[in-house]
Amino acid sequence: MRSALGSLLLVVIVLCACARFPGITSERAVLSGDKAMEYVRAQVAFGPRPPGSPQLQKCREYIETQLRSFGYRVDHDQFVAQTPYGPIRMNNLIARKGNGERGVVALASHYDTKVMEGKYFVGANDAGSSTGLLLELARVLAEAKDPFDYWFVFLDGEEAFIEWSTFDSTYGSRHLAQRWKNEGTAMRIRAFILLDMIGDKDLDIWYETNSTTDLMDLVWNTARKNGLDSVLSKTRGAIGDDHLPFLDIGIPSVDIIDLNYGPQNSYHHTTNDTLDKISPESMEKVGKLVLAFLPELQKPGVRSQKSE
Ligand SMILES: [Zn+2]
Repeated sequence: MRSALGSLLLVVIVLCACARFPGITSERAVLSGDKAMEYVRAQVAFGPRPPGSPQLQKCREYIETQLRSFGYRVDHDQFVAQTPYGPIRMNNLIARKGNGERGVVALASHYDTKVMEGKYFVGANDAGSSTGLLLELARVLAEAKDPFDYWFVFLDGEEAFIEWSTFDSTYGSRHLAQRWKNEGTAMRIRAFILLDMIGDKDLDIWYETNSTTDLMDLVWNTARKNGLDSVLSKTRGAIGDDHLPFLDIGIPSVDIIDLNYGPQNSYHHTTNDTLDKISPESMEKVGKLVLAFLPELQKPGVRSQKSE
């Protein structure tokens, strides 16, 4: 993920960058940070999960098993990516209920971890946390009666193999965006909501300026209205991430990300990115923010087109 902070300083950061419960009368289950944490623990237990690895295959099977247990159909978007390490098979997963004819809100996270040769990099936060929360959101929204369909998109190959560039990064999102454009699916996607690195104990979500401005503002206003101001960062900046290919094809998109991970971002893409650095509370706060944000998309007057 690549970040540019402000107009004077260019900072290049290679990142990546109910089932119903008894007594709950709403059609929605209650979102649980502890459940999200459980999904993160399971991913981390597979070890490092770079694209094309047996560990990522096991993680993919785990994600798919969970999604099917929530009642989703899971589609595989398989392709071969040309990487600095040669051709590598990649596989995005898309969980759907509904064919999208009434409009789609896509919620997404990457699920690969960065290749770090000779190091045991387990990516509890990057991308365990966002993948875990996305699974929990899928569980909670499985019985939603909202006027559009939710699709849950688990993207492969977000991380750069060598050094972040247009061609060495975001392999899965670039492939899927092109496919959605070619198939005419893109016009059905009302909003693309990306989660990345949202498990940090010291949660600090950026105002990410590549995102569609109206959607980013809506995230901000929703946080304030729901007493979640404490998760908002004072940092504004442009981050290269999986939302960019979808923005490029005209889909309104927003990246919910905390790129201040540890002192001076020192846990990011290091072996410090372990379970003890993330918390169920942070994931639960972001989950609640997303759940409060979704109904806002239905309100008249919410403009979600890409800002100029
Ligand atoms: Zn990363």
